[in-house]
Amino acid sequence: MNDIRGKMEMKHPKNLKAGVGVCIFVLAVLALFCRADLKKTQNTYAEQRNQMVEEQIKNRGVSDSRVLDAMREVPRHLFIDEPYRHLAYADHPLPIQAQQTISQPYIVGLMTEAVQVQKGDKVLEVGTGSGYQAAVLAHLTVHVYSIEIIKELAEKARQTLKKIGYDQVKIKWGDGNLGWEEHAPYDAIIVTAASRKMPPALFEQLKEGGLMVIPIGNPSSFQILTLIEKKQGKPVRKEMIGVRFVPMTERKR
Ligand code: SAH
Repeated sequence: MNDIRGKMEMKHPKNLKAGVGVCIFVLAVLALFCRADLKKTQNTYAEQRNQMVEEQIKNRGVSDSRVLDAMREVPRHLFIDEPYRHLAYADHPLPIQAQQTISQPYIVGLMTEAVQVQKGDKVLEVGTGSGYQAAVLAHLTVHVYSIEIIKELAEKARQTLKKIGYDQVKIKWGDGNLGWEEHAPYDAIIVTAASRKMPPALFEQLKEGGLMVIPIGNPSSFQILTLIEKKQGKPVRKEMIGVRFVPMTERKR
């Protein structure tokens, strides 16, 4: 008996060594698979983004290379929750929280190009929503301010932007009809909610020569995306295209 036990005890260390070896091998293979899978997902998103820019934005006439580059960079899927994330690069708006929407990629490109943001400019966005439009603007200038009237959205966008690395975007929970006086005047203002008329406070906070883009019309049906330039203190309007945005409200929630 003693003899047999002695042999078995001798075998244990060997078995253990072999077992550990197999485990390490299996883990290494698994790690390789995971890395390949992660790369595949990342590639897929990058590929989808490039395709989105080519087909939906460039093809329809947006030509400012800085805007196109920004939209190739911003990971739009990270601004959209499940179950809609897989549709992030599709050619339409998508629901976000609180019955609001993230705009169609083309509309983001069109509005961003329209206000001609230059490096160092100060930009105000009204209607932060998911924070996606603000992230696109952050590629064009470091001074991006954005106002959101729904607290839950303002907080979520702040977190998303921080997580991805857009720390410079400043978000305020408030009524965008009143603008953000503290940082005025702005070189550009982008309003991403529908309004019956241009809010006077926003026009006041626009610099001389500055540009504002805003959907003006019936907030519960259709609007005209309107570009307004401040020329000698007066608004000069240019109508762009018909759009459908969620309404601009006045009560903080
Ligand atoms: N630009 C956003 C999408 C905007 S959706 C994005 O990139 O995801 C319109 C947003 O405007 C909604 O989140 C809505 O809550 C907000 N909003 C509506 N009225 C507002 C107001 N008076 N001031 C600020 N935000 C407003």
